[in-house]
Amino acid sequence: MADVRFQKVCKTYPGRRGGAPVSVLHDLDLQVQDGEFLVLVGPSGCGKSTLLRLLAGLEQPSTGEILVGNRPVSQLRPAQRDVAMVFQSYALYPHLTVAGNLGFGLRRSRPRSPLEQLQDSLHQASRRLPSALRLTSPRETRIEGRIGEVAAMLELGPLLDRLPKELSGGQKQRVALGRAIARQPAVFLMDEPLSNLDAKLRTGTRAQIVELQRRLGTTTLYVTHDQVEAMTMGHRIAVLHAGTLQQLGTPMELYQWPANLFVAQFIGSPPMNLLPVEVVGPGQLQLEGHRLPVDGPLAEAMASRVGHQLTGGLRAEHLRLAPATNRNLRASVSHSEALGNEQLLTCRLEAGGHLVQLRVGPEEQVPPGATIHVEADPSGWRLFDSSGTALPRPRSGAQEPVLPRL
Ligand code: ADP
Ligand code: MG
Repeated sequence: MADVRFQKVCKTYPGRRGGAPVSVLHDLDLQVQDGEFLVLVGPSGCGKSTLLRLLAGLEQPSTGEILVGNRPVSQLRPAQRDVAMVFQSYALYPHLTVAGNLGFGLRRSRPRSPLEQLQDSLHQASRRLPSALRLTSPRETRIEGRIGEVAAMLELGPLLDRLPKELSGGQKQRVALGRAIARQPAVFLMDEPLSNLDAKLRTGTRAQIVELQRRLGTTTLYVTHDQVEAMTMGHRIAVLHAGTLQQLGTPMELYQWPANLFVAQFIGSPPMNLLPVEVVGPGQLQLEGHRLPVDGPLAEAMASRVGHQLTGGLRAEHLRLAPATNRNLRASVSHSEALGNEQLLTCRLEAGGHLVQLRVGPEEQVPPGATIHVEADPSGWRLFDSSGTALPRPRSGAQEPVLPRL
């Protein structure tokens, strides 16, 4: 078990075919706690895989250091780092059986003494003989025991003698997971491990990975682009954009109090609604001539910003259908998605023609083209300045979020 620290890590790849060097990570500081499940998200190309590959030892940082349990690892070979990586593409050895794949890392670890080597060769040579004639090797017995344990954990027992080409995608991914688990590393690295699976298998395997991680307590860095995986699997989420860390926090912190516009748009589905607003008083916003109240601690923070043009953010659940009065915003429905338990409406506000999305009950009759009135929940507003930075979450009263119990 170990914590993981990235200290001022920069990574620049040399330019390919005479092109300019590609600077991927900039001064990245990130600490993953011992036993934590950290989910890493960000748009394609932002450096997520690079970050994992640096930790695994498949790439070298340009500057900075990475520590695993206080031990600097940049100078260590991948095998010495006590980390195990699971890839999207499974990367199983095609010529080895499931058992062979599970045991591969175990057989390679630690050099063997000449006696152990002899025992292992005798064991190997006598493997196919009747059991009375087989020679055992303590090391092989240990490894086979471990393979059995891992196979039981992942329900791979009946598949141990199969080759990878005889497995389904989900089974292959379980073998890849098993291979990582078998080595009992200090850190698991998983790079979009479920993205090649169909939706149903993904849900099942997701639950299995979370359950295993909580049971084993192994520090885990998990890359995904799936909103559900990001929101449900980890203790915390790190959002990466263009090689810099945008925000690190619990899923609910990021969802409710995004640190900037990028996070507000990236975390949560649908993304946060954004509207250009002006602060006209403490607790008073104006949108195209409409006064909109803001409630709660953020209202006080607005006092020093009267007259400022800001971006106001509202989650879809903070807009609701309301009576047709002058106070409420008139809008026309442009699109509705029935999701079974609710409908997601996309509508255009008359004020300014802004498109917003809101959640309404499944029973509401709101066909495209219908005119509706909506009101904003006064406590749902989040505000962002012209640089996209959120007005800080007010500290008064509200309880500080605590990290979910590890
Ligand atoms: P992500 O996993 O977030 O999609 P990557 O870490 O794979 O992003 O890549 C980040 C950026 O680095 C991309 O622009 C990619 O093209 C570039 N890159 C990745 N690997 C190499 C490499 N070996 N050489 C040059 N550029 C690379
Ligand atoms: Mg990647």
